[in-house]
Amino acid sequence: MPTATDTNLSAVLYTVKNLRMEERPIPQPGLNEVQIEIQAVGICGSDVHYWQNGSIGDFVVKAPMVLGHEPSGIVSALGEGVKHLKVGDRVALEPGIPCRMCEHCRGGTYNLCPDITFSATPPYHGTLTRYYVHAADFCYKLPDHVSFEEGALLEPLAVGVHACRRARIALGSKVLITGAGPIGLVSLLAAKAMGASNVVITDISPGRLAAAKKMGADFTLNAAGKDPKTLATEVTNLLGAMPDSSIECSGAETSTQLGIYATKSGGTFVLVGMGGHEVTLPLINALIREVDIRGVFRYANCYPAALEMVATGKVDVKPLITHHYSLEQALDAFETTRTGAGGAIKVMIHCGRQSQSS
Ligand code: NAD
Ligand code: ZN
Repeated sequence: MPTATDTNLSAVLYTVKNLRMEERPIPQPGLNEVQIEIQAVGICGSDVHYWQNGSIGDFVVKAPMVLGHEPSGIVSALGEGVKHLKVGDRVALEPGIPCRMCEHCRGGTYNLCPDITFSATPPYHGTLTRYYVHAADFCYKLPDHVSFEEGALLEPLAVGVHACRRARIALGSKVLITGAGPIGLVSLLAAKAMGASNVVITDISPGRLAAAKKMGADFTLNAAGKDPKTLATEVTNLLGAMPDSSIECSGAETSTQLGIYATKSGGTFVLVGMGGHEVTLPLINALIREVDIRGVFRYANCYPAALEMVATGKVDVKPLITHHYSLEQALDAFETTRTGAGGAIKVMIHCGRQSQSS
């Protein structure tokens, strides 16, 4: 519970490149909500993108907005009606609260809800703050042995789980992943846990490829300077066959072209990376070989599986974390993520008072 002297230090984006640490009021939980004392928040590329550009697609920061959407914390107060949580529970927060009423929500694809309120997608505040109020049913209790950092990483891992489900990964799948950033790496972890037998991952950064190798990639391929058709042949040679499924996680146009050329006839190619608004693709190649091209947007119903994989040790997300900062040092944390200094992959911000120095 916050004490009378507690404050609510928060990382607030005002305008482009204008991120400030600021005290804000401590929010109180309403019906079916809980107040969370936030402990760990991972920084995502989109947080950095809002900071540097002020917008992503149609989402424009028009008013000061707290950043952050990969959170975990401790329940510090209960709103009316909350039954499955108590004060002191350690939880991971799924950051998107859908309307629960529309056809998508009712059909289970709540990630497609047009009225979803998602942390740090304007105009909604994010979780880089000391105290945050969230819908109780989008908080997942963490077993004692799952750390707050692992709880925070359930957010990107849920993207990987959803991508692999959309990519129809199954026992014995051969898989191509393009891009070995945090999203490519969580897709790698999820694919292996879901039974993929062989995964080849591409990047143009040797450091990222080395990280992928450490995290279980069977093969790594440096895509720098190579054309997509040549790369597709190299992928087939490495896997011994064309991949059943490909997952694009770089946002690069050439990677998207590679995904089409490389995927086996009748296979599945999913798009996670967000590149330019319009890209040039060899669509006839996909058409005549019945390669299914599918979109991936965040996740729905993936947190429980992500948590199970981490809690049972089937997936180890800890190697993703390269840097730690306190909430007070949030500006430094953002700068490290932006520059990728020191081989940064996932930068973790510790918001709890007891972990300020970690
Ligand atoms: P990131 O920028 O850290 O990683 C991208 C990686 O791709 C980098 O390691 C980069 O070196 C590599 N890359 C660049 N060009 C390449 C090429 N030609 N071939 C192979 N690799 C190349 O970003 P991230 O956080 O890992 O996110 C990846 C993408 O996923 C971004 O575009 C992001 O916007 C998107 N994303 C989408 C969703 C969704 O719901 N669809 C969710 C989260 C992130
Ligand atoms: Zn809805």
